[in-house]
Amino acid sequence: MDRLVCYNCGASYSFGTAARCTCGEPLWFETDDEAVSWPGADPGSTDAVSYGHDSLWRYESVLPAVAPVGLAAAAGGTPLLRTPSIETADGPRVHLKLEGTNPTGSFKDRGTAVGIGRVDGPVGTVSHGNMALSVAAHAAATDREAVILVAEDTPDSRLAMIAQHDPHLFRVRGDYGRLYYDTLDGDLGVTFLNSDSPLRVAGQKTVAYEICEAFRPEVPDAIVLPVSSGGQASGVWKALRELRSAGLIADLPRIYLAQAARCDPIAQAYRRGASRVDPVTDEPTAAVSINNADPPSGNRALAAVHDTNGAVLSIAEETLLAETKRLAAEAGIAVEPSCAVATAAVQELSESTELGSDEDVAVIVTGSGYKYESPETESTAVREIDRGDVPAAVRDLAS
Ligand SMILES: *Cc1c(COP(=O)(O)O)cnc(C)c1O
Ligand SMILES: [Zn+2]
Repeated sequence: MDRLVCYNCGASYSFGTAARCTCGEPLWFETDDEAVSWPGADPGSTDAVSYGHDSLWRYESVLPAVAPVGLAAAAGGTPLLRTPSIETADGPRVHLKLEGTNPTGSFKDRGTAVGIGRVDGPVGTVSHGNMALSVAAHAAATDREAVILVAEDTPDSRLAMIAQHDPHLFRVRGDYGRLYYDTLDGDLGVTFLNSDSPLRVAGQKTVAYEICEAFRPEVPDAIVLPVSSGGQASGVWKALRELRSAGLIADLPRIYLAQAARCDPIAQAYRRGASRVDPVTDEPTAAVSINNADPPSGNRALAAVHDTNGAVLSIAEETLLAETKRLAAEAGIAVEPSCAVATAAVQELSESTELGSDEDVAVIVTGSGYKYESPETESTAVREIDRGDVPAAVRDLAS
């Protein structure tokens, strides 16, 4: 599996010879139909690199990498959880794909694992969030150097979390958005696994393989996910196309993407009816992991939505904060605000009857909330109490 192709113009390149297509669009790995099949029923063999756990390496035949030993073997294989407590009477059945159970707490481990399984030597990334944490951890697990380029305003608490894994951490002054393109230069001696790099997209497509395999022989009516760079959305679209091309699914689920209203370039392009995404000027949002004003795979994400008859939604700041709280309080699932936009989108799609009560929707809950400080809410109020008063207070609650 060594060919990269452009979804937009069809041009093809061998791996390592081009970072983007000459038409300007991102590339992804070509997959032969013969490689695509549902894996056997026995993922639990102790010959596998991961056992007692069903990882993304279940789909090794459609990946441009071999399963490495170590942390990468724990990526993927996440639970898909029907969650009636957050469903509404007129809304669809909601199935949450809990990506927070990946080794570093987000779906980014899927792309990192495939990158680590393919390239030798040092790796790097342009990120101060989940991707930085993931690349730093997987580099540590394989005894290699990691270069992490963070933005100038990255909080120290965030840096400390990444620094645990001993990467080379650089706080970069200057245009952080353009830095992504600087790192595509093949002469750096470090392979940058950025948000929408072909290896990362290949890893991230496995989330849709897992969802479709869980629903087989049917597919869910829709898949809803947050979008920032467009890397994960590209991976989901790619997986669905591969499965259809190989005859394993008949119809593509509709792909719905959700953004924070304060930084929503892809949603704006969608509403304009455009096929190209223009950069926007963003405002600060609590959804920090999806705050990309100039997404490198924005056009491709938009193409995924058009191809599958989905939509792109903008979620208001108050709504995404309230939804973060609702998931924790009503489903027991702590998420970042960046994830809550997706379930908030399900609510809005139900209200507008675009998702019906006879439908199944899979929502990608992209990362765990336990890594981030939770927003303060009223119910955070803690009561001070003397030890002797505890039994009476507890009995009061029960009565
Ligand atoms: C990176 C990230 C996203 C966005 O993914 P893209 O591939 O950049 O579109 C969404 N949610 C979380 C928690 C993330 O870390
Ligand atoms: Zn092209």
